[in-house]
Amino acid sequence: MGSIVAGVLSLQGAFEEHVNKLKECGISAVEVRFPEQLEKIDGLIIPGGESTTINKLLEKYKFKDNLDKFNRKHKPIFGTCAGLILLAKNIEGEDKGLGYIDIEVRRNAYGRQADSFEEPLDLSLDRGENGGKFESVFIRAPKIISAGKGVAILARYNEDMVLARENNVMVCAFHPELTDDLRIHKYFINMMKNYKGEN
Ligand code: GLN
Repeated sequence: MGSIVAGVLSLQGAFEEHVNKLKECGISAVEVRFPEQLEKIDGLIIPGGESTTINKLLEKYKFKDNLDKFNRKHKPIFGTCAGLILLAKNIEGEDKGLGYIDIEVRRNAYGRQADSFEEPLDLSLDRGENGGKFESVFIRAPKIISAGKGVAILARYNEDMVLARENNVMVCAFHPELTDDLRIHKYFINMMKNYKGEN
């Protein structure tokens, strides 16, 4: 028990907050700065930040091949905000993303006036972890503008899909690491436990 090690991509952005959340959940968490570290972790969080900057750093530190291998092994990956953008198959008007989840996204889609906002949302997680509303913090958030058939929608803001999962990959348009609510991190931890056969 307790052998799960989660990694948080720590090149830029809100990585520390994710590390703290994982630790609060009793999970070992490491800051990932080099591609070789991916071999030693059971799941990876790609945090919010600036997706173009994180993408440049992924190239600079030659992460692509190791990340592809990580995804091919179906190891759980969770992208929040900029992380969602990087994991998407298509980024509207830009180069392709990593393509690990079949969605198309529009960056900074909620307009300038509403640069950031908070909204209590219903979750549709399994394992009876739904409970009450999840206080969701959106910061220059991307919008999922289309999703393939294999993508499960776990939360919506109005009509928009804001928490989604396809197989080993989960993405979130808002910032669960900025609230005290651990439900989404716990859900991701369960994905890692299932992967390791610990459930
Ligand atoms: N607007 C950022 C981007 O396009 C994402 C914002 C965030 O991660 N909070 O990369």
